[in-house]
Amino acid sequence: MLPLPHEAVGDRRSSLMTIKASCHCKGTTFEVSQAPQTVTQCTCSFCSKRGSLWAYYVPSQFKLTSPPENVSVYQWGSKTVKHGFCATCGCGTFTETPDWSTGEPDFDNPKISVNSRLFDDFDLDKVEVVVIDGKNLW
Ligand SMILES: [Zn+2]
Repeated sequence: MLPLPHEAVGDRRSSLMTIKASCHCKGTTFEVSQAPQTVTQCTCSFCSKRGSLWAYYVPSQFKLTSPPENVSVYQWGSKTVKHGFCATCGCGTFTETPDWSTGEPDFDNPKISVNSRLFDDFDLDKVEVVVIDGKNLW
């Protein structure tokens, strides 16, 4: 699971721009409607092995532009979170999760966490990386 900082979604300072993203083989492609202000590196058992840098969106800011059947899903622990990945090239792509900002899953408030490492034509090095201690938080 992934925490969702309140400031990560709908931040007025965020620049509105379409960012396209793709896995290595292009089996999964998607777009998000704004650049992240920060990206999150999580130390939990899953994220540390996957190596994702997470950027958080609401579903209206996210558009899958490849066939949904290309998205494989991994679930672990409480299985409330769907971690998408490409079964062909192995890239972690995006995660569908209820909002966890209150500490409890809010299924009426779905969020999409995308792996910003898949962004094409975007200078990820310019974005601040926030480290969260998922290893000890859950
Ligand atoms: Zn792929």
